[in-house]
Amino acid sequence: AKRRGGHCAVPYYHQLDLAARERRQLITDLRQAINDKGMELYFQPIVMTGSHQPTHFEALLRWNNPTRGFIGPDVFIPLAEETGLIHALGNWVIDQACAVLSRLPAEYGVAVNLSPHQLKTDDVLHTVETALATHGLAPSRLTLEVTESALMHNADKATRLLGHFHQRGIRLAMDDFGTGYSSLAYLDQFPFDILKVDRSFIKRLGGGDNVKDSTPIVETIMVLARQLGLDVIAEGVETRQQAETLHAMDCTFLQGYYLGRPTPLSTLMENCARVT
Ligand code: C2E
Ligand code: CA
Ligand code: CA
Ligand code: CA
Repeated sequence: AKRRGGHCAVPYYHQLDLAARERRQLITDLRQAINDKGMELYFQPIVMTGSHQPTHFEALLRWNNPTRGFIGPDVFIPLAEETGLIHALGNWVIDQACAVLSRLPAEYGVAVNLSPHQLKTDDVLHTVETALATHGLAPSRLTLEVTESALMHNADKATRLLGHFHQRGIRLAMDDFGTGYSSLAYLDQFPFDILKVDRSFIKRLGGGDNVKDSTPIVETIMVLARQLGLDVIAEGVETRQQAETLHAMDCTFLQGYYLGRPTPLSTLMENCARVT
């Protein structure tokens, strides 16, 4: 519940105390969920434009807390990053995604999100290598998604890690492209294979009332990607109109509610059994 000032009978300093206690409890619960398999991965299809055939699936974390209900990654990932729990959580995601991938037909791949914090140590390298070996996977079936902020704060370390992944044949995607400041420099500097155009641009395709049309920007990104030899994934495609516009622009892949929502593992397995 939201607490507001004014009519509230609880003195301000007690509210602060409460917030701090609530936060501590949330961290305790988070730690427990990570240790006790209280986390779940959902999978959203990424489809080849035109065919609507999924080629890979993005793994997205879900925390279904028994008392608090559903908590989204936008809430608990920052908390995990602040507390250092992101390493245990991120390692679990990599292993779990690879375990799931080993149960899918070989033509499918999985994309995993990496937190900037995970690119600060060699931990992630060992985790990825161990997961690939344990589950007997070709490295090319794994995509790692990173954002610009991961590259901004620790460029040296990130260069070495991404260079290693690239050399191993793991695919690298720049996530949320267009939302940061120096995207172009990073595309030049790091061995990316895929560029994911942020949802904010896809949403504004065609413009609308008081909404600036993003078509010129998206078209320019497509040309840029082609010149650099990168595949493009359009994120957050919600309408048929958007899908058709992106098809006309020769966008390689589409992802979004129009193509399919993130689903639990059971649904993923059913869908993959059906399309093969
Ligand atoms: P993201 O990597 O940009 O993931 C895409 C987000 O957009 C997902 O939100 C997805 O459910 C949502 N989405 C997909 N299609 C549509 C659409 O058509 N319309 C709209 N409105 N939304 C769409 P989600 O699952 O809540 O994840 C939010 C963010 O949390 C992710 O953004 C990612 O940055 C982070 N995240 C999720 N899982 C992980 C993880 O395992 N590790 C790390 N480090 N971060 C994660
Ligand atoms: Ca992502
Ligand atoms: Ca994204
Ligand atoms: Ca995002």
